[in-house]
Amino acid sequence: MSQLRFSRVMLKLSGEAFAGDQGFGIDPLTTQAICRELAEVATMGVQLSLVIGGGNIFRGVSVSSKGMDRASADYMGMLATVMNALAVQDAMEKLGVSTRVMTAITMKEVAEPYIRRRAIRHLEKGRVVICAAGTGIPYFTTDTAAVLRAMELKCDAIFKATRVDGVYDKDPEKHPDAVLYSTLTYLDVLQQGLKVMDSAAISLCMDNKLPIGVFNLFVPGNIKRLMLGERVGTLVQGE
Ligand code: UDP
Repeated sequence: MSQLRFSRVMLKLSGEAFAGDQGFGIDPLTTQAICRELAEVATMGVQLSLVIGGGNIFRGVSVSSKGMDRASADYMGMLATVMNALAVQDAMEKLGVSTRVMTAITMKEVAEPYIRRRAIRHLEKGRVVICAAGTGIPYFTTDTAAVLRAMELKCDAIFKATRVDGVYDKDPEKHPDAVLYSTLTYLDVLQQGLKVMDSAAISLCMDNKLPIGVFNLFVPGNIKRLMLGERVGTLVQGE
């Protein structure tokens, strides 16, 4: 336990992470593989809270660009995150990890409503808290939801899982010469428009001095290495 660098963290996973090779929806094998990594750190004693996106099922902004009302589309996006949260809950519990899904939109037959003090209590009892339905408000992203929850749950840091090794000066999937940053300041990210999280989420982290770790979800052991304080990916923090 003593070698753990973090005692309570927020992990933001995009919905796309769960789609696997099919590129949409929820792939059970991919979900199980991700959850094995999460379960490992939960059993190490890290208090783990998760925010999961919904982009593998429904993304409000792209659907609204084709004519649907933005707020309606965003509510559908938030409902998509609940489906992902339930898939993760199922996979985690099959691995023997106790979890709670807490939703920002009340649907008490499906999951608990998000209540901050209850969420903290679950974390203290070693349950993984899966925060679903984003902020419950349209026009926001799950990145912003993750930062807000991280702050109110008093997490030591927020980690954003990606499919590349961290933050690069340009898209590494299109430019083989892209350079990986090991550290950045919040201002670097905002001024250079680097793809870490949306600007509302970055600004919240900056104002509240919440460190952001960006790492490759698909390198086995990365989440564990981060929890032990090893330098993995890119760290974004203040000056
Ligand atoms: N969303 C929202 N408010 C929130 C969080 C999410 O309206 O607080 C909606 C929005 O339409 C978004 C969708 O839910 O496109 C899915 O979330 P996101 O795109 O952030 O998922 P990710 O890209 O991480 O999979």
